[in-house]
Amino acid sequence: MPQVFGSKELLEDVHQQELCIGCGACVELCPYFKNYRGKTSRLFPCTLPQGRCFAYCPKAEVDLDEIYRKLRNVPYDGSPIGPYRNIVAAKVGPKMASGSFQGGGTVSALVAHAIKSGAVDAAALTDREALTPQPRLVTRWEEVSRYAGAKFMAAPTLAGLNQAVRQGYKKLGVVGTPCQMLAVAQMRSNPLGKPEHHVPVALAVGLFCNWALDTRQLSALLCERTDIAAVRGMDIPPPPANVMILDTAGGRVEVSLSDIKPLIPHTCFICLDMTSELADLSVGMYEGRAGWNTLIIRSEEGARQVEEAVKAGFLQSESMPGEIIRHLSTAAAAKKERSLRMLIQRGLINTNGGRRAVVRIPQAVMGNILPGRA
Ligand SMILES: Cc1cc2nc3c(=O)[nH]c(=O)nc-3n(C[C@H](O)[C@H](O)[C@H](O)COP(=O)(O)OP(=O)(O)OC[C@H]3O[C@@H](n4cnc5c(N)ncnc54)[C@H](O)[C@@H]3O)c2cc1C
Ligand code: SF4
Ligand code: SF4
Repeated sequence: MPQVFGSKELLEDVHQQELCIGCGACVELCPYFKNYRGKTSRLFPCTLPQGRCFAYCPKAEVDLDEIYRKLRNVPYDGSPIGPYRNIVAAKVGPKMASGSFQGGGTVSALVAHAIKSGAVDAAALTDREALTPQPRLVTRWEEVSRYAGAKFMAAPTLAGLNQAVRQGYKKLGVVGTPCQMLAVAQMRSNPLGKPEHHVPVALAVGLFCNWALDTRQLSALLCERTDIAAVRGMDIPPPPANVMILDTAGGRVEVSLSDIKPLIPHTCFICLDMTSELADLSVGMYEGRAGWNTLIIRSEEGARQVEEAVKAGFLQSESMPGEIIRHLSTAAAAKKERSLRMLIQRGLINTNGGRRAVVRIPQAVMGNILPGRA
């Protein structure tokens, strides 16, 4: 049984330490936690000694070995991209409704097909109102493309998932960042063991992520340079571009990464996962091949969904060159190493003497991630 506390401890460990990423996993479970313009706050005190808010939070007492064993049936070994079956190149197929996809539209195609085929009855996606990300629940496959495109801000998507559970949906889809996929994994493992807490996630599609931006600070910065209500899309091309590009009604606006990097929440610097290791499927950009994605197939259900989406003409896939997989693995290992160093430096990992930790991993795994450390 994982260490689970209540909302008092969640405030002490996560909110007061400025570790909250605003994922939304603690929102819409009770009347107390709300997310407003990217920030999650507790409105009223609650005295329960244990709660799903703490149990689902990806920044509070996460025992990675336990969650890997429960969900994947393997121990946590700190490998750069986590357990997987296959990695392929993918993009939308001819049957998929068009949209402003971030890359190849693989995520939208997979979700649309899962709804159309009945594998999923509602999917929690992320919309944007001006620059503020908003959770959206989608039940019609034709609507999925409307929410395509990455919003490079931390988003309360999982509030939408919690709402869908309350509304009684039985086969849920969800798309999110690695921290959100960790929260979804905790939901799926039902940490308090109560049947009424069952979260029926049928398909979890994770994104790659190195960092996100703070919504409020980004809005404050960009409203000096453009009409943020007129932003139609955003992109952060791979190096050496070094800019964020905004597609606005008035034209293209470029913002230097050196201006926006200070807006990355500190909690992203203690995040060990770049590729959504606990999702059924993980999707990122395919560097050097515009219009395509990198697709990591992890679970049996994920593999089935990809196969069926290809058969139905929603998705197309090709084999992935080994060189690209090695490059991805190097980038993911670098994030793990950086973040583990920061966790150790801040005393947030494997604490003892009754002190709570952000994350726990087996001591031996430290050596796998940090070369030279036993
Ligand atoms: C904060 C962030 C950082 C990222 N960093 C990287 C990176 O370093 N390297 C890399 O290869 N890829 C990164 N990505 C993923 C990449 O931008 C694409 O989302 C991914 O390649 C899927 O492309 P697609 O064409 O299949 O997506 P689309 O078909 O366009 O669908 C995108 C989906 O993402 C969901 N979404 C959008 N914004 C968010 C959000 N903020 N939180 C949760 N869900 C969201 C939408 O609901 C939509 O379903 C990042 C994405 C985000 C949101
Ligand atoms: S569950 Fe998500 S929104 Fe809630 S405290 Fe944890 S990180 Fe913040
Ligand atoms: S870096 Fe980690 S904590 Fe930050 S948004 Fe991405 S997955 Fe979440």
